[in-house]
Amino acid sequence: MKASEAYELYGSSYLPLQKKLIINAALTGNVPTKSDTPHIPISPDEIIADARRCFSAGATFFHVHARDEDGRPSCRKELFEEIVSGIRKHCPGAVICLTTSGRIFKDYESRSRVLGLEDELRPEFASLTLGSMNFPNEASVNPPDVVKKLANGMLSKGIRPELEVFDTGMVNYAIYLSRKGFLRAPFHFNLFFGLLGTMPARMVDLCHLVNSLPADSTWCAAGGGRFQLPVNLSAMVMGGHVRVGLEDNLYYDYEKTELATNEALVRRVAGLAKQMQRPVATPAEAREILGL
Ligand code: ZN
Repeated sequence: MKASEAYELYGSSYLPLQKKLIINAALTGNVPTKSDTPHIPISPDEIIADARRCFSAGATFFHVHARDEDGRPSCRKELFEEIVSGIRKHCPGAVICLTTSGRIFKDYESRSRVLGLEDELRPEFASLTLGSMNFPNEASVNPPDVVKKLANGMLSKGIRPELEVFDTGMVNYAIYLSRKGFLRAPFHFNLFFGLLGTMPARMVDLCHLVNSLPADSTWCAAGGGRFQLPVNLSAMVMGGHVRVGLEDNLYYDYEKTELATNEALVRRVAGLAKQMQRPVATPAEAREILGL
């Protein structure tokens, strides 16, 4: 949906709630370990199996990280190839986004390795964080030259950037990058809220950000920890899309007594969407919405 349409909830014959919902599953991330939760998928086989379960629960977009044999974040191309190949096989039509996160690997060479996947293994999207910030225990460093090189790398490979926004200035930077030819419309943003050191998870911030997006944008919203569910709900009401999963949140409840699974988190938002009468997009519909 177009960002400007988020404001058509009232006084319009057309409800954002009637738009098809894309559920983005962020399965693994860089941080959670098996000691945090036994449900975090680490090996390629575990990640593929989780993707398959989430796909049958309604997820049509997979945000993918890889881990090495010791469970540490890895940018090894073969690991990503194995994961993408498995997701392509078991989740036909799903959209795949590979991370180029600067949280662990800072240099362009490591971060851009996923852009080297070819032919049917080439991802539709790769993540592009638009600026630097602090997470609770480390910095995510994204200097302008690396952001621009990654954006150029994606352009040259025909891979769309999933524009990761953790603070309001990052939208402005995306607009700047597009003016300078590093990004090309249509844009797809992932708006992330509720991590210490970044934007708080408040509806006023979500509305402000959505209102700041370029006209030709689709957007998805994610929240860290117990903010995942309220951010997802807010985005669903506004006609945006949602990102869920253990990368961002390990628990099913606010009291943190029940460990979640990726599948359960996807099933919950899909169920809530149904209750809101917001239809969940099929893979083909997700591709159409995203302009793929
Ligand atoms: Zn990620």
